Amino acid sequence: MEHESSADDAVEEQCSEARRVLRRAADLAADYLEGSERYRVSPAIEPGDVAARLAAEPPPQGEEWDAIFGDYQRLIEPNVTHWNHPGFLAYFATTGSLPGVAAETLSAALNVNAMLWSTAPAATELEERVCDWLRQMLELPPQFVGHVNDTASVSTLLALAAARHRSMPEARQRGLAGAPPMSVYCSDQAHSSVDKAMIALGLGLDALRRIETDDRYRLRPDRLAEAIDRDRAAGLLPIAVVATAGTTSTTSIDPLRAVAEVCRERGLWLHVDAAYAGCAAICPEVRELLDGLEEADSIVLNPHKWLFVPVDCSVLLTRGYDALRAAFRLVPEYLRTDRAEATDLMDLGVALGRRFRALKLWMVIRRFGVEGLRAEIRRHLELARELAGWFAAEPGFELAAPVPLSVVCLRAVPLDGSPPAEELDRFNVELIARVNRRGVVALSHTRLRCGVVVRVAIGNQRTGRRHVQAAFEQLRDEAAALRAEWRSR
Ligand code: PLP
Repeated sequence: MEHESSADDAVEEQCSEARRVLRRAADLAADYLEGSERYRVSPAIEPGDVAARLAAEPPPQGEEWDAIFGDYQRLIEPNVTHWNHPGFLAYFATTGSLPGVAAETLSAALNVNAMLWSTAPAATELEERVCDWLRQMLELPPQFVGHVNDTASVSTLLALAAARHRSMPEARQRGLAGAPPMSVYCSDQAHSSVDKAMIALGLGLDALRRIETDDRYRLRPDRLAEAIDRDRAAGLLPIAVVATAGTTSTTSIDPLRAVAEVCRERGLWLHVDAAYAGCAAICPEVRELLDGLEEADSIVLNPHKWLFVPVDCSVLLTRGYDALRAAFRLVPEYLRTDRAEATDLMDLGVALGRRFRALKLWMVIRRFGVEGLRAEIRRHLELARELAGWFAAEPGFELAAPVPLSVVCLRAVPLDGSPPAEELDRFNVELIARVNRRGVVALSHTRLRCGVVVRVAIGNQRTGRRHVQAAFEQLRDEAAALRAEWRSR
């Protein structure tokens, strides 16, 4: 009896520890979400600074919570780059929203592994349902079904694996030795994840044809058709096109309907990388820009980019699961079940174990509602238009590309004279570095036809007009200071 009561006490103690610790973690998270602006967006540290302060060896015995949380507050939180900071305007800005953060906590507590329906029934069925919500939000036909991966890079890899399997099913068993060389097509603006998929699938980088874009950085369907026909005539086996809706550099949108027609006429798989713009396409006026999306064989969009879901959450939509199953389904004895009618998510890709990402997507959509999500996206679109207007009117700056969505590409240009292109590139690189050093906003760069340009990406739920205005004023003021310094050199 005595033994039982001490076991009960231990359970009691553990329960209260769980509550105490989780409340403390919740307080830390809430403080952070409400006050991330107390930090510089990027910490002023050098490589190795954090490592030098971390214990070199693991603790032999468990440590006290005070020590662990204390180190988190001292060493970790201040030394991350604050993607959740409203001044984070680099790459594609993202949001760890409140419903997303709450869902992450609960999914960690549940800790389900959704490899089979039977190992995670609710996680499997919620994943299918919430992907269907997205399908409806994107006005796609009911043939499209979805599942959730960690990243768009993986979603694109899986889509191209399905495309490869459709063109050459025997490669699954025999590999590629002796097979005719296969080729894949994308624009010269497509994301590097397409190149990585070529590497991983054994197709090789040389087999990726990067097709010329027009003056607005959109893939040219005429050049695409020519390249496919040329390759086929030369004995290659063209298998797929990756069109981009929202390119990384400028957010340009390839002409999807025309590209789909080229694919249909020639029997190629069309994968649309809508990692970023697919999120905004829940607004009917943006969906119009993605006309032809419904003609794709597969589509990736990343709710962790612009649908306020914390990293990581990438949705791959395909016309039924059969193509992915044909490429990947493989059931060892220890994973056999008698639930043939249910979806086993492990059949749809490389990963066996998978975490419960659908929970955060579901909670975010429920908490914001479709109209709430649209309102946030429209607010960002409006801020980007406003920022573009300020730069268009500012002497010493020019817009470097059209602004169809929430990214503004601009560059500082000389007020007089015409310096060599490399000097102008160096000026813009230094300009970004100076603004970033101030720590109020974070910006990134890209290279376009005109040279190096500044990218200002709006997409965080907490980013307001004053943050965008700060980016404008800091770029303007630092450019003036830099011009003066360069003149006196
Ligand atoms: N596709 C596009 C257009 C992107 O901009 C990115 C990343 O920014 C990716 C794919 C890769 O996304 P992920 O980091 O989810 O692999």
